[in-house]
Amino acid sequence: MPRNRDKPLSLNDFEIGKPLGKGKFGRVYLAREKSTGFICALKVLHKSELVQGKVEIQVRREIEIQSNLRHPNVLRLFGYFHDKKRIFLVLEYAGHGELYKHLQKAGKFPEWRAAQYIAQMTAALKYLHKKHIMHRDIKPENILVGIHGEIKISDFGWSVHAPNNRRKTMCGTLDYLPPEMVIPGGKDRFYDEKIDIWSLGVLMYEFLVGQAPFEDTPVMTQRRIMRAEMTIPSFVSPEARDLIKKVNSLTSRVLSDTDQFLFSSSYSTLRNVYH
Ligand code: AMP
Repeated sequence: MPRNRDKPLSLNDFEIGKPLGKGKFGRVYLAREKSTGFICALKVLHKSELVQGKVEIQVRREIEIQSNLRHPNVLRLFGYFHDKKRIFLVLEYAGHGELYKHLQKAGKFPEWRAAQYIAQMTAALKYLHKKHIMHRDIKPENILVGIHGEIKISDFGWSVHAPNNRRKTMCGTLDYLPPEMVIPGGKDRFYDEKIDIWSLGVLMYEFLVGQAPFEDTPVMTQRRIMRAEMTIPSFVSPEARDLIKKVNSLTSRVLSDTDQFLFSSSYSTLRNVYH
């Protein structure tokens, strides 16, 4: 919360509003902190369900990591408290909900819009990686949209703080996983934050085309990821095609400052047509 408190937060400090959504392990409500009128999203997790789902460590990690992050494109976690049965997370309210739903409704995004989102994702990932945090589960379901249409990365349940930059746990969602994680025995290998860059390429494709590039049966998806085998439809512009290929490269996966700039500026003409 944007003020210093001398006593710990509790449920009594909030007025609870409409439900915003339901996740695998909890419900999220619109809420207002009574003394300041501050609007936020309150996520309620039941301790028994976390124990049953064996995700206590994951949730603890999510709280530890997210509460230390401050970036306009990363969902803020302002605080947390708990009672006997529940854990409450006080989150930044993302007024336009899930990006996934916007994508479903639109089918696919025009390039100017995809470019804006990818530029914001890139800024957020650069920030996370600089802090040696890998998100490891980048996909439209884990991205929320703020009141001004800006995107907010959320769901840090799979993220990890790895100061030595190398990890070896299998995680995330198959469609967005990079080759180094899906190859047989891949889960025993080391990988680094380049896994998020790969997912960014998958996301870019999905924004522009309306479905993920390697979508298939699980076995075929795995095979196609290992070969970086994707068909980019002809309506995708040469600039976007080039960037997707660069980011989903099997050998190098680089997103330099120049790329980020090029990507967000190469569409500026298009953007001007729409605005
Ligand atoms: P989660 O348990 O984090 O997957 O959240 C379940 C659903 O609640 C999401 O899919 C969103 O629709 C909604 N939601 C979660 N967090 C927020 C938030 N900070 N602002 C607005 N809606 C949210």
